[in-house]
Amino acid sequence: MSSPQTLPRLVPPAAVDPAGTASLRAEVREFLAEQLSAGAFTPSVDAWLTGWDENFTKALAAHGYLGMTVPVEYGGHGRSFIERFVVTEELLAAGAPVAAHWIADRQIVPSVLKYGTEHQKKEFLPRIVRGDCFFGIGMSEPDSGSDLASVRTKAVPVDGGWLLSGTKVWTSGAHRAHAFIALARTAPVDRDNRHAGLSQFIVDLRGPGVHIRPVVSMNGAHHFNEVILDEAFVPDDMVFGEIGAGWRQVTSELAFERSGPERFLSTFVLLRACGERMAAQRGAADPDVGRLVARIAALHQMSGAVAGALERRDPADIPAAVVKILGTTTEGDIADFADTLTNDTADPEFAQLVSLAVDQRPGFTLRGGTNEVLRGVVARGLGLR
Ligand SMILES: Cc1cc2nc3c(=O)[nH]c(=O)nc-3n(C[C@H](O)[C@H](O)[C@H](O)COP(=O)(O)OP(=O)(O)OC[C@H]3O[C@@H](n4cnc5c(N)ncnc54)[C@H](O)[C@@H]3O)c2cc1C
Repeated sequence: MSSPQTLPRLVPPAAVDPAGTASLRAEVREFLAEQLSAGAFTPSVDAWLTGWDENFTKALAAHGYLGMTVPVEYGGHGRSFIERFVVTEELLAAGAPVAAHWIADRQIVPSVLKYGTEHQKKEFLPRIVRGDCFFGIGMSEPDSGSDLASVRTKAVPVDGGWLLSGTKVWTSGAHRAHAFIALARTAPVDRDNRHAGLSQFIVDLRGPGVHIRPVVSMNGAHHFNEVILDEAFVPDDMVFGEIGAGWRQVTSELAFERSGPERFLSTFVLLRACGERMAAQRGAADPDVGRLVARIAALHQMSGAVAGALERRDPADIPAAVVKILGTTTEGDIADFADTLTNDTADPEFAQLVSLAVDQRPGFTLRGGTNEVLRGVVARGLGLR
């Protein structure tokens, strides 16, 4: 085993130059201040998953904040991952309702650019940039989460396309999205190579053979679903990437899914509210607020470094796993910390934020791959397995 001095560097050096991005940050803050003063949204926790607001998405699109990394030829803005990082960080820190376009903008854009056909690029990218096309993620199934290679949804070739049958679950936003990319088995399981024989398909969530049932959270909220595919027809031109290469494609999509600032900023609005209460002497000063701010500051640097790796097209799965473990633990700790500050005299707005954060907290370390599983990815990066 390596000595501590020779451990490999897991997260690359910081990549976000504060001076070079200051004016973009200021521009986004000004946009957010205008939206807030117009009453366009109420800052909330976990708003990137639960804050579905198509008008807000349209306002972002009008300012060029959607599809920032999409090349101009596909209607995009040809900007860098670092610039997208700055914009998304500001939106998350403000608790803005960005759920409608989040998945499309975060992972469908880079996946379609990498694996999509010319027809798919022209079909989806301009609509995503305009805030007109929303996507879900069709990976998990009732018995396949961490062990994603065990998916049982099957795709069978027919004249002109494929018939998909199976059940997807925990599909965020499927009841409102236009499409998802489903991972399905296109060849029987090969015991010596379980990752072979998987393929991806762009499925029209409003098409025949697709049945969407709500999965309602304990607090009554509805943001994820069960999606039953009952011989849902996918035409040949909506096969995504190569038949049989689904595993390689899905793992590259996961790097984008896991690497962003939403993995440490889901409860930032609450941390700010804690600080403001203390500053206004509406609660006892507690040094833990400083500890949490310090963790967020470090995660800002680390997550920006991952955006730099994506910009350079470097592999990012290991640094993304590090940031996601540390980040989701921090955002959960913020919920727990704030929960200790509520008492009978707490103001209702603060109590509402705390209650939402506590409700959403169990999902932080599960969604996008559990922390236990990601520790395995980190161990691989350290050469331990
Ligand atoms: C809020 C939320 C939104 C989601 N949205 C989507 C979505 O839009 N689309 C989608 O496809 N999925 C979505 N998911 C599903 C998510 O990806 C899965 O919940 C996750 O991958 C874990 O799978 P599982 O729930 O089947 O748990 P399991 O894989 O059954 O794991 C159960 C427990 O066992 C542990 N475990 C499993 N394997 C190992 C191992 N090898 N080593 C150590 N421990 C292990 C896990 O860490 C976990 O604690 C969402 C989940 C949440 C909570």
